[in-house]
Amino acid sequence: MTALGRASGVRVGVRLRSGPHHCATMSIMLSTESGPPPLHLFTCPTVQPDMLNVHLLPHTHDDVGWVKTVDQYYYGVQNELHHGAVKNILDSVISALRAEPSRRFVYVEMAFFSRWWHQQTNATQQAVRELVRQGRLEFANGGWVMNDEAATHYGAIVDQMTLGLRFLQDTFGDDGRPRVAWHIDPFGHSREQASLFAQMGFDGIFLGRMDYQDRELRKKKREMELVWRASASLQPPTADLFTGLLSNAYDPPKHLCWDLVCDHDSSMVGDPFSPEDNADVLIDHFLDVATKQWQSYRTNHIVMTMGGDFHYENAHMWFSNLDKLIQLVNAEQQASGSPVHVLYSTPACYLWELNKANLTWSLKEDDFFPYADGPHQFWTGYFSSRPALKRYERVSYNFLQVCKQLEALAAPAANVGPYGSGDSALLEEAMAVLQHHDAITGTSRQLVADDYARRLAAGWGRCEVLLSNALARLSGSQEAFSICPELNISVCPLSQTSARFQVAIYNPLARKVDRMVRLPVSAGAFLVKDPSGHAVPSDVSPFRDCHPPELLFSASVPALGFSIYSVSRVSLRRSKTHIPQPISQKPGSAVLNIKNEHIRATFNLETGFLMQIEDLEQKLVLPMNQSFFWYKAGTVGQKISQSSGAYIFKPQQQKPLPVSDSAQIHLLKTPLVQEVHQNFSAWCAQVVRLYRGQRHLELEWTVGPIPVGDKWGKEVISRFDMPLDTKGYFYTDSNGREILKRRKKRESRVGENYRPTWNLNQTEPVAGNYYPVNTRIYITDGKKQLTVLTDRSQGGSSLQDGSLELMVHRRLLLDDNRGVGEPLLEEGSGSWVRGRHLVLLDAVGTAAAGHRLLAEKEVLAPQVVLAPSGSALYHPGATRQLQFSGLRRELPPSVHLLTLARWGPQTLLLRLEHQFARGEDSGRNLSSPVTLNLQNLFSTFTITRLQETTLAANQPRASASRLQWNPDTGTTPTPTVPPLDPASITLQPMEIRTFVASVQWEEFAWSHGGDPVQA
Ligand SMILES: [Zn+2]
Repeated sequence: MTALGRASGVRVGVRLRSGPHHCATMSIMLSTESGPPPLHLFTCPTVQPDMLNVHLLPHTHDDVGWVKTVDQYYYGVQNELHHGAVKNILDSVISALRAEPSRRFVYVEMAFFSRWWHQQTNATQQAVRELVRQGRLEFANGGWVMNDEAATHYGAIVDQMTLGLRFLQDTFGDDGRPRVAWHIDPFGHSREQASLFAQMGFDGIFLGRMDYQDRELRKKKREMELVWRASASLQPPTADLFTGLLSNAYDPPKHLCWDLVCDHDSSMVGDPFSPEDNADVLIDHFLDVATKQWQSYRTNHIVMTMGGDFHYENAHMWFSNLDKLIQLVNAEQQASGSPVHVLYSTPACYLWELNKANLTWSLKEDDFFPYADGPHQFWTGYFSSRPALKRYERVSYNFLQVCKQLEALAAPAANVGPYGSGDSALLEEAMAVLQHHDAITGTSRQLVADDYARRLAAGWGRCEVLLSNALARLSGSQEAFSICPELNISVCPLSQTSARFQVAIYNPLARKVDRMVRLPVSAGAFLVKDPSGHAVPSDVSPFRDCHPPELLFSASVPALGFSIYSVSRVSLRRSKTHIPQPISQKPGSAVLNIKNEHIRATFNLETGFLMQIEDLEQKLVLPMNQSFFWYKAGTVGQKISQSSGAYIFKPQQQKPLPVSDSAQIHLLKTPLVQEVHQNFSAWCAQVVRLYRGQRHLELEWTVGPIPVGDKWGKEVISRFDMPLDTKGYFYTDSNGREILKRRKKRESRVGENYRPTWNLNQTEPVAGNYYPVNTRIYITDGKKQLTVLTDRSQGGSSLQDGSLELMVHRRLLLDDNRGVGEPLLEEGSGSWVRGRHLVLLDAVGTAAAGHRLLAEKEVLAPQVVLAPSGSALYHPGATRQLQFSGLRRELPPSVHLLTLARWGPQTLLLRLEHQFARGEDSGRNLSSPVTLNLQNLFSTFTITRLQETTLAANQPRASASRLQWNPDTGTTPTPTVPPLDPASITLQPMEIRTFVASVQWEEFAWSHGGDPVQA
């Protein structure tokens, strides 16, 4: 290969040990150049430069919940369900490492390791520190979990990695800092994940799963190792990540599995006097596997992953066999000239050998979705599995950020106050667990999914106490604050039973927001007053379809702050409150409209379906048809080679069936909102809604429980069909951040479909074109763009030009044979799901401004908190404060405040993000670099010192360095870090900058007679 020619090495022919399977002459590269290794690599094992070095990586893959709950896996409870006991694994591994100094081990999941660590004696902890220092116990990845990459939001990924890496940094210092990311099990790989890992300072990543066709081709082309350019906006090599694709997922070679759960493989005997001696056979086999594997890789180093799911509970079994393998293979080589050298190693040490080879590597710029492990086996169902859990996780991300911000703004008064002790730590941990690749994905058993939800709920409890303490401190009054978690189904006891109450709305964005507040109330009329005592327009909707009346008013909330509104019931005669009446459709007219000052939506009265959207300002008109369909998903008793399940989407027919040919509709119009209520079937309904002043159309769908009495599993989609010439292209976000262009080939040719880096033989025209949608999907004809924002992760696609679909819910009767062993039936909670799609119609050049800013408002929506009226002061002399902002000035629209959180007793963690991509916005110039002044920015504290760190905050940016790799398109030098000036922080498009700020909290201004808005 040409790249090898450029490497500074020579190839020599080496004769392999004779035998039927390995008599070929192979060429080996002799490295002639290597600089000194980075400090942590001085502990790496010795390799043989003129031999094939086989790096054995002893590892265990410990799912943070899957068939069993997190605690069941940790303690080894219910081993009959699935054998797994992480506590025993760690006990056993540490003692095996201490017994023999050449042994090494890789550990990954901090949710388990940190728990185990806190249960150890000082002596054991000291011994483990020593193992880490010597590089014999290496942490890879180091996140709280090995997160999923398809259904996760980037903010939650950053949070969970920060949590795990912080534990390692605090416990082991730089010795414990992982250099290599290790995503061996996630079901497909996102580009944004690679970008985040690069920005966290990782030297490379190893992946286990990729499309079976892609893998075979890469093996042939020897492109199993490559450089991934993971951002279209960030200057290379900022988001470049060296990527190694493992040869055999994360399993050991066949016949060489020596765990107690590997029943079929024999131990290595190695006793020439025993009639059972199998060493010759096993070593022949090992050498055969190694030389075959080597043909797909480019240096004289390869890796073998020696472990699997919950392996090493009896670590002695694995290690004693590996000891023997190493001893016999290396002895063999001396005796008969075999060119294979085998050694205990780690991911970082293997990566260092690749780096020293100084090759150029192929460059990848797309992602690894969708993942198929065989024909008709696309893992695209999990993009949508368990939609209720996916929404609960997204709302919890929102609430966690609110909780962390208030913990930072109100200082210790948030943690201990009139409502007791609260903190964000429990929700932070629960959210980190939820990012695991069997949690947010919906691929765990039902009892485990219930346990994930329980963890979130416990975390919410601690945060609610914190929120009450903080609001009391910042507002100067002790209200009995409460949140109504069931507002999405119009349930809130306080507002439904009180004649007077207060509504505090906290806004976690760094800009003011206007938001329609919607609360269930008892019948009657209400007067709503803003923080300065002025009445604001409000509506009460009447009883309908068993729904309680709802009070509606528009609230305005300052940046990183709150506004407190008061609500009181008034007599109908005195009130100017509008009581809306449902208006039935007029006979004779063929269409029905709802509109506000920006948008008009038109419905076909015959079908009841949405048939057109107009943007009244930009004078854009887009005819469309939107309704619900379902894919047939196989039935019990059928002989199906692959069925749809928690992971896999495998429709029986490529054409979905309509839920209904028409929808019953009724119309509701008030001064503040216009709604069309559509009823498609007994289990599928939708409200299409336009609030006053809103620039998007809201589609609130309700689906479930999906009936399966007809023995068909069902996968339900919402589909928009429009006359747009989209030329086979559509666009989806990557973890809620950068956008990837997707293509389904327009012309029907063989295989029909498309992948950016290989000629696809498509076996599933629908499932094989599904992609993860975390926050948005759009299509465009080059002039108009239709964007749909989601309120949770879903699978989506555009299967025909001008068509766009999102899978909202699925209920299945069969398991898909990927290990969970349970059909995705979701009896009880989770079977009935409500969600929203926000639809934006825009001209292409200004569309990004619309969807970026709206997605930000949805992911970090204001938190509504209720309190009865008539409270005590926070302390005697305190002044009531009905409006508050944590910022002295708003941040510009292109800047997102990604993190504001407590870091230490006197320090905060701060992340600022440019939320536009390069060249994305041509209207308001929002894609330009932006410069901020952090001095005197926050109102409750002053920053006294600022240190910039890498993305996960585990090393100073100035001293961070990564291994450099040469892509075949040419090398770009790493840019130097400019000196830090808090008065002038510049963000380039899509850049995130992370700071640890030393701060001094201020006595709040109003305690000294400031000028707040007073009650
Ligand atoms: Zn796993």
